[in-house]
Amino acid sequence: EIEIRGLHKSFGDNHVLRGIDLEVARGDVVCVIGPSGSGKSTLLRCVNLLEEPSEGQVFVGGTEVTDIEVDIDAVRRRIGMVFQQFNLFPHVTVTENLVLPQRRVLRRGKAEATKVARENLERVGLADKADAYPAQLSGGQQQRVAIARALSMGPEVMLFDEPTSALDPELVGDVLAVMRVLASEGMTMMVVTHEMSFAREVADRVVFMDGGVIVEEGPAAQVVGDPRHPRTRHFLDRIL
Ligand code: ATP
Ligand code: MG
Repeated sequence: EIEIRGLHKSFGDNHVLRGIDLEVARGDVVCVIGPSGSGKSTLLRCVNLLEEPSEGQVFVGGTEVTDIEVDIDAVRRRIGMVFQQFNLFPHVTVTENLVLPQRRVLRRGKAEATKVARENLERVGLADKADAYPAQLSGGQQQRVAIARALSMGPEVMLFDEPTSALDPELVGDVLAVMRVLASEGMTMMVVTHEMSFAREVADRVVFMDGGVIVEEGPAAQVVGDPRHPRTRHFLDRIL
């Protein structure tokens, strides 16, 4: 579903991604781990073209998104992204947060957009917060709204960039639970996370990045439980 070939990204003379090759099959969950500054966010951002790759190719669902002729907006519609910061619109209700992008981007009518919004709020366990404003919700609830908002656009793949890092520890579980359900429903997902128990239990594969390259990748149990590369071991020793 996602294929990354020979991807490089530089910011000025900062060569951040130094040749990334990665495939995520349809329905698979790949967790990306690695130290701060290793290029994890940049990698995700190159997949949905929030950053323009300097070199290499990215395919999503068979379409080369790095093709200069491609319709960037059409590509982004097929890729849901959830960030550490929830980025909800503060001045409108939860439902409106889900309805507005569907109307603007997908040109859906109000009735349909509202119906899709309701379904997705139910999916993340927040049907009862439909009329609340973001500030009235906990961080974990806001992040679940952000996930529901991304899902309302009907994405083929979902990208998560440290979705639980800004949350109080007691709120992390609810967000991971929603992501587990998505994974079990067969959503194709790339997840940058420091939640090693999630990676172990949910990921089909784990990718360890350091210095802009993939140092090690494999089944979660192997990469997290029995890492082969000393840099992976060193990283895991520090965070576990
Ligand atoms: P973290 O775990 O802290 O989130 P990361 O692995 O996600 O780190 P990136 O955010 O991808 O790392 O950053 C990798 C490098 O790219 C860093 O050196 C960063 O300063 C640089 N970088 C990222 N985005 C930009 C940008 N928009 N302009 C310039 N440099 C950038
Ligand atoms: Mg990052």
